[in-house]
Amino acid sequence: MRKDVELTFLGTSSGGGPSRTRNCSSLAVSREGRACLVDCAEGTFRQLQLFSFKTKNLDTVFITHLHADHVLGLVPLLGSVLSGVANTPVLLARFKARNPSPKPSINIYGPSGLRSLVRTTLSLTSTQLGATYAVHELLLPGEALTSCSVDDMHLNEVAGRDLAQGDDGFWRDILREAGSSNGWVVDVGEIAHRVSSFGYILTFPPTPRTFPPSHLESLKIHNLHPSLLGKLLKSPHEPIELPNGEKLEHPGWNKGSKVAILGDTSDASGVRELARGVDLLVHECTNAHLPFPSTTTPSSSKKDPATFESVREKSAARGHSTPDVAGAFARSIDAKRVVLNHFSTIFHLDSHMLEIERQTEEAWGRTGRRVVCAKDGMRLVLRGVEDDEEDVALDVHEPSP
Ligand SMILES: [Zn+2]
Repeated sequence: MRKDVELTFLGTSSGGGPSRTRNCSSLAVSREGRACLVDCAEGTFRQLQLFSFKTKNLDTVFITHLHADHVLGLVPLLGSVLSGVANTPVLLARFKARNPSPKPSINIYGPSGLRSLVRTTLSLTSTQLGATYAVHELLLPGEALTSCSVDDMHLNEVAGRDLAQGDDGFWRDILREAGSSNGWVVDVGEIAHRVSSFGYILTFPPTPRTFPPSHLESLKIHNLHPSLLGKLLKSPHEPIELPNGEKLEHPGWNKGSKVAILGDTSDASGVRELARGVDLLVHECTNAHLPFPSTTTPSSSKKDPATFESVREKSAARGHSTPDVAGAFARSIDAKRVVLNHFSTIFHLDSHMLEIERQTEEAWGRTGRRVVCAKDGMRLVLRGVEDDEEDVALDVHEPSP
């Protein structure tokens, strides 16, 4: 059984947006009955509807950093996804009394301060939800804890976890820590930006291939139930022996996959160890020096014309990347594919995006459409190929016009 990983780009503009064609940052990742968001800019819930993304399985939101263009859609999203009951404080108090620590419907992970942001916004806007949420904070050394005492929490809030950085500088396997990994392994590392910013590395384990039809036929001949094949999944090294001595073997494995989704950064080397060999790297590319009129940012003037170096330097000073920075990082981790996002609003033509892709490939030293500039509504499917194939297959579905 193949378990494809699907990414839907909901917003690909930098903080200068939203623009006519791009919303600010958010993307959805889904795989087998679970969906999560990485970042949640204002308007994300509308984007989910626009691109017909079903929120039924959405149970996790990862926030990369607390800049407004990555987080201001979070409370409206909770208000929409967790709506359904017009709760009064009295009803909510009764609900909580019956369920003192209910499993949250949505788990949110992000930097210190996120808990207060969500709590305060819900309280000041008098928003009551039809279900519960928890905020788990990724704490850097010296950062203060935000209380999760019953008196301090919002009525819909369940106590979140305070996740300390490990000795190796990473936050490893954060979903397992929260008790809900469901086959997803998520590790986190800090990357350089103007504020604390994180890269989330999602690893999906290998999955068993579909059973060959001959397995089912053999069972039928011996009047055995097909559910017997479940034994092979539990114990892959123990074949099932049939009464005639025939042995049914495990069907083999489809490759797992690994995806790195980074927040805003001028230097992602903080997650290099975690992201090594990723099948897909999602890296920001806010700025670029392009050989087209009025497409150079940060600001340049006639007196001081921009160059590749000056644009890279100014971009880095603002905590952002240019195509060569993204390409060099992809090379340093031996990524298989790269998707760029978080573009300045001055890049709006297809020719701009083609040139950004070309510059990134040049810096990476790999060619053959291995770099793609994301568009709002673009879907990527990572297909779990068989173990002996070289790369995980990536299908790119352009948004419908
Ligand atoms: Zn941003």
